Amino acid sequence: MKRKPAGRKPARRAAKRKPAAARKPTRKAPANAAPAQQPLQRSEGFIPAPPPRKGGCPECGSRNIRMDPYRGESVCGACGSVVAESLIDVTQEWRAFDDDQRSRRVRTGAVLTPTKHDQGITTEIGKGRGELFKVSSKKRAQYYRLTKWHKRLIKSRDRNLSFALSELQRLVSLLTLSKAIHEKVAKLYQQAVNKGLVRGRSTESIIAALLYTTCREEGAPRTLDEISKASGINKKDIGKTYRYIARKLRIRILPAKAQDYVPRFGSLLSLSEKVQVKAVDVLDEAAKRDVTSGKGPIGVAAAALYIAAVLSGEKKTQREVADVIGVTEVTIRNRYKEMVETLGIKDEVEERVKEEELLKA
Ligand SMILES: [Zn+2]
Repeated sequence: MKRKPAGRKPARRAAKRKPAAARKPTRKAPANAAPAQQPLQRSEGFIPAPPPRKGGCPECGSRNIRMDPYRGESVCGACGSVVAESLIDVTQEWRAFDDDQRSRRVRTGAVLTPTKHDQGITTEIGKGRGELFKVSSKKRAQYYRLTKWHKRLIKSRDRNLSFALSELQRLVSLLTLSKAIHEKVAKLYQQAVNKGLVRGRSTESIIAALLYTTCREEGAPRTLDEISKASGINKKDIGKTYRYIARKLRIRILPAKAQDYVPRFGSLLSLSEKVQVKAVDVLDEAAKRDVTSGKGPIGVAAAALYIAAVLSGEKKTQREVADVIGVTEVTIRNRYKEMVETLGIKDEVEERVKEEELLKA
């Protein structure tokens, strides 16, 4: 009989005691309390709540459980039994009518962020020397030592991290990367520090390598050239660190997609969106026919942009494209040839090129 005394008692007792009284109001409740139907909070005051049951209502098994915010109860919508009572109200209980009040009443700070070395929360024991004299003279020496050692410990632990994160901040703004990438790299860097992978390698090279991986993962790839230029670390070092870190942190390195490069290269070349869309179409088509597999995505993207620009009447020369993107003309020429031949648009493209040249001459 008494298999689960602690967990089920309240619900049963409530169900027996209340049905007649509780049913009526709770049937009505959904009309005025509809927005409060949030995921169920099953805490009952300070008594640990019974573990949430998968079936919903312990009496009839219905999943239709409703919150009654005025009574602090959750009630089964099918049989009216009270599933949990004395729920804790987790909503904000204060109001503020202007900024001043808000800043005085609010008890929380900004959101935690991995992009700051202390996640945006700083602990400081006492502000400055003046605080020292607020303590009794007996405790003053102890208090002073506490402050001193706290500062020393915090500093030595965070020095490296805060240096690394400011370098990251610099690269992120230089390369105009998203916040998502910024936070991801910051987290990865902290993982690398915790695993002791940073020892013996320069902080800058690790940040650069992580940035390279993450940009690629997030579909906003930057070329090794760009990252190398921005960070001042040579490409070989970035590559080496990148392979090491990826192996140790078990990051799977997916090859970057040529399509991901199109929007950025497109705007570097000041090509219209129409051309960029066209270039992606060309790339999709080429991928279907397997022309691009195994080829470097940067060269492929460059060639596709060249083709799309010609076909849309915004012609750039292969030299121009090569210079802006940072690949050789030969690469573009080769990728271009393979693509137009396979897609059967060679004549069309070459005719357009001739037309444009005639117009210029
Ligand atoms: Zn029920």
